[in-house]
Amino acid sequence: MSTTFRITFLGTSAAVPTVRRNVSATLVAYQDLKWLIDCGEGTQRQMLRANLGFKNLTRIVLSHEHLDHILGMGGLLATMNMLQPVDEVVVYGNPTVIERVRQMTSYIGRSAQYHLHLQPIDAGLVFTHRQLECYAFPTLHRVKHSYGFVFQEKPRRRFLAEVATALGVPNGPERRLLLAGTSLQTPSGRLVHPDEVLGAEEPGKKLVYISDSAYFPELSTVAAGADCLISEATFLHADATLAAEAGHMTAVQAAMVARDAGVKMLYLNHISQRYAQCESLLLEEARPIFANTHLAHDFDAIEV
Ligand SMILES: [Zn+2]
Ligand SMILES: [Zn+2]
Repeated sequence: MSTTFRITFLGTSAAVPTVRRNVSATLVAYQDLKWLIDCGEGTQRQMLRANLGFKNLTRIVLSHEHLDHILGMGGLLATMNMLQPVDEVVVYGNPTVIERVRQMTSYIGRSAQYHLHLQPIDAGLVFTHRQLECYAFPTLHRVKHSYGFVFQEKPRRRFLAEVATALGVPNGPERRLLLAGTSLQTPSGRLVHPDEVLGAEEPGKKLVYISDSAYFPELSTVAAGADCLISEATFLHADATLAAEAGHMTAVQAAMVARDAGVKMLYLNHISQRYAQCESLLLEEARPIFANTHLAHDFDAIEV
């Protein structure tokens, strides 16, 4: 299977940074686009340490206004304004997030060639890019509006190169026309329809990111069939009451979502610093419920 998403965890700690884990940020690369999901304090330096350039970073989706998810925006946007690795950046978040980012960036002198767009969002479609669609879905947290994100690639049909060759389709731009759905005539006069040279429809890849949220069963509907689920798992089961009160999940609950959604793999994220000496317990609790569970660490890079 080919790689669709390249995901780098830049901050996997809840609320406060620790020596090993920075606060929330995840970078995803898809074709010629990169985007950040959340941007906690120190995210730009985490990107440098992960050897990730700012080139192609033109989208930033923010889950909610808690500072461990947005405080890195001022510094990151100041740097991007100065270095101009891209011409424009679009920041998406609920109206409170957008207002906080606007305040942070109000100190930055604007350079002419660089455009910053602050885009308030509701649940639903956030942006599209080539075959990709990004949707926001509501989570259950201690703020008015908090969102998780679904990154869904549209279904695609593979080009059957050998069939095309056998039908006499030249090896050139004609093939791109067929891929785009246009019929064409071969040099020998044979009319070739796209259906003859395209394979069966295959589902696109799906990546689901559950940001800060208490558990609720509908999360598994949102995550249904995902190739990869990244979920907050702030607490251990012993602290389940605390988790519910604080609007967070336990590792067990994240695993229940993964199991009920039938995802292919689960990464536990947004880990409380209180477990710094016993983090493996999160996996021990989750894996009996969903076997293919991993614990995200800062600078882990995965391909989906
Ligand atoms: Zn948080
Ligand atoms: Zn929060």
